[in-house]
Amino acid sequence: MKLVLLGPPGAGKGTQAAGIIERYHIPHISTGDIFRKNLKEGTALGLRAKGYMDQGALVPDALVVDIVVDRLTEPDAENGYLLDGFPRTLNQAIALDEYLAKQGDHLDHVINVKVDPEVLVERAVGRRICKNCGATYHVDFNPPKVEGVCDKCGGSLYQREDDNEATVANRIQVYMDETSPLIDYYAKKEILVEIDGQKEISEVFQDIISVLGE
Ligand code: ADP
Ligand code: ADP
Ligand code: ZN
Repeated sequence: MKLVLLGPPGAGKGTQAAGIIERYHIPHISTGDIFRKNLKEGTALGLRAKGYMDQGALVPDALVVDIVVDRLTEPDAENGYLLDGFPRTLNQAIALDEYLAKQGDHLDHVINVKVDPEVLVERAVGRRICKNCGATYHVDFNPPKVEGVCDKCGGSLYQREDDNEATVANRIQVYMDETSPLIDYYAKKEILVEIDGQKEISEVFQDIISVLGE
């Protein structure tokens, strides 16, 4: 199954991705995670992406598309994957379609997680991530049992540098301008699934599962 998770920053894509990949046994491919890993390791790619990420701007298409295409050719992606945070521009979506078409392939579903802009800021600002395993929490909406400590692995939790109010506001604007046109793009291809992302985390997951099938 080849899936895309679409939605503004803080919509709950990463949170839902964790459950989806476990259930369908497909890899989670998050371009944001790839960039953060490269930043942490101080690679050339990480350094090139940093300035854009700090501003809440998009990393240029040419950089992103090559990384994703490389990742899709790895053996674990042969039978499907969940793309999270990619594509984010029409050019990226077209590049992905062209890549898939070349192998006579196509996306199965694009899941659009819908959340009102007012809710997004408090979600992103309260987000905490495990340094060790990457699990996502929220200080109010999905707190760990022990403050600052991951339930799953005991790792310590941190806040992303770009999860501050000003950068989040910019990321939401960038989403509106550059990414939201993809909703129409995939609706026309009749592969778009609309999900209400304002329900409880477990309810959102049930809604997704009911579309994808058991
Ligand atoms: P995205 O990957 O779309 O940016 P995340 O999955 O990281 O979003 O979620 C953003 C924040 O909102 C996290 O702190 C997460 O715990 C919280 N969150 C996710 N889904 C929900 C939900 N349905 N209700 C309340 N909070 C949520
Ligand atoms: P969120 O979970 O809040 O939606 P991500 O972790 O997906 O954020 O992305 C963090 C940052 O990484 C973005 O603000 C952007 O700078 C960069 N980025 C991630 N994916 C892409 C992409 N497909 N195209 C361009 N930039 C990207
Ligand atoms: Zn952890």
